This record gives sequence, C-alpha cells and structure tokens, in this order.
Amino acid sequence: MNRRRARGIVQGVFLLGFFLLLTLRRMQAWVILLGLGLLLGVFWGRVYCGWVCPMGTVMRFETWIYQKFGIKRKAPGMKHENGKNRGFVKILQLLFLVMFFGGMITTQRLGIRVNLIVILVGFGVGVSLFTKEEFWHRICPHGLVMSLTAKIKGLKLKKMTVEKEGCIGCGQCDRVCPNLSITADKDGKTRRIITKDCLVCFECEKVCPTNAIYFR
Ligand code: SF4
Ligand code: SF4
Repeated sequence: MNRRRARGIVQGVFLLGFFLLLTLRRMQAWVILLGLGLLLGVFWGRVYCGWVCPMGTVMRFETWIYQKFGIKRKAPGMKHENGKNRGFVKILQLLFLVMFFGGMITTQRLGIRVNLIVILVGFGVGVSLFTKEEFWHRICPHGLVMSLTAKIKGLKLKKMTVEKEGCIGCGQCDRVCPNLSITADKDGKTRRIITKDCLVCFECEKVCPTNAIYFR
C-alpha cells in the first residue's frame, strides 16, 4: 500500500474517532491526542496535522472536490519566501492563538462548559470553504503549536528531504504542497523542505519526476 493511501485510511479512522468522541461527549480524550502529536513532532514533524487532525482530513477532501470542479480559491497574504509568513498572516496567527488558548483558560475559570476544539474544527473547515488549504494551516492555533516541536532539530528520526543531486528545479513539488512548505534553496533552483511547516503528506514525493524527495 502506498503512503498516500495509508494516510487516507488513517485520516478516515481518526475522523470517525473524532465524531464518536463527540457523540459520547468525551472530547477531553482528544486533548491526549494533541499532546501526543506535540511529542511526535519532535521525532517526525507535523504528523498530527497531516494524519490525525479532523480539519486537515476534511480540507483534503474539500481540496479534492474543488480541484475536480476546477474551482479556484485564494490564500490571502500567503506568498511566503524562505518559510517566513507575511505580516498579515503573523497577526492572524497571534490573534487565533490568543483567542483559542485565552478562551480555554477563561471558560475553565468561569466554569463555562463549551468545547473549543469542536468550535475550532468547525471554524477551520468553514474558513477553508473560501480560502486555500494553506491559509488555514498557517493560522490554525493547533498547527502553530505543532510547528514548535516540529522545528526542533537534532532529534528527528525522519523528515521529508530533497536530495540536492537529484533535484532539477522543476517546481512540481511546490505546486502540490498543501502548506507552501517547499522553497528554493540558496542556489535559487533546487528545492528544500521547511520541516516546521511540512505536514508529511507525501504529495511532493508522488509528483517528483526524478524521485529526489525522501522521507528519511
Ligand atoms: S507536499 Fe511535501 S513538503 Fe509539502 S507538506 Fe506534503 S510532504 Fe511536506
Ligand atoms: S519535483 Fe523534484 S525535481 Fe522538481 S523541484 Fe521538486 S524536488 Fe526538485
């Protein structure tokens, strides 16, 4: 079984698990998965975002539908270079981070029973109805936290890597990456992958004509 198909199955299982926990009113269990995702990020990068997160799963399906019907969406403020987001995106990142984690603390202190994870999932999916997938991946508070452990170097067991010698700079990988995680290297031609943004989705590996992209 190829990795993309395996990813689809895993995503489907976690999406079902999400709705099951929601139905059973046991969403606290999802917080454990978020914690595990953070830990896994140290060793394999943002596998939570690419393989587990219900928003990522629904967005993958949305993107597939939009591509099928040739519908174009925009990613406002999203022309990052060398992995750096533009000011507008940085402000939104901070805003959503404060709103989500501030909201969690406030509602707990006031004893208000509201599930912010479910609200966030609904909101993220709603936003991606009108904007490209990468827009939400960058402003999502969970994604931002996951990127913190994903960028820890030295302890990575595996990560998506471009083999310089094999890369011909065709840019096909850039075009399929759902989080703009691929950028030109210092030579301006060959590509490199920004690990903190990479969702480990294997889309780039599939399209690379010279098989220059590896997970190792
Ligand atoms: S397309 Fe490649 S670089 Fe982009 S998120 Fe997927 S695995 Fe990472
Ligand atoms: S698709 Fe492969 S050969 Fe083309 S730019 Fe990306 S890594 Fe290089």
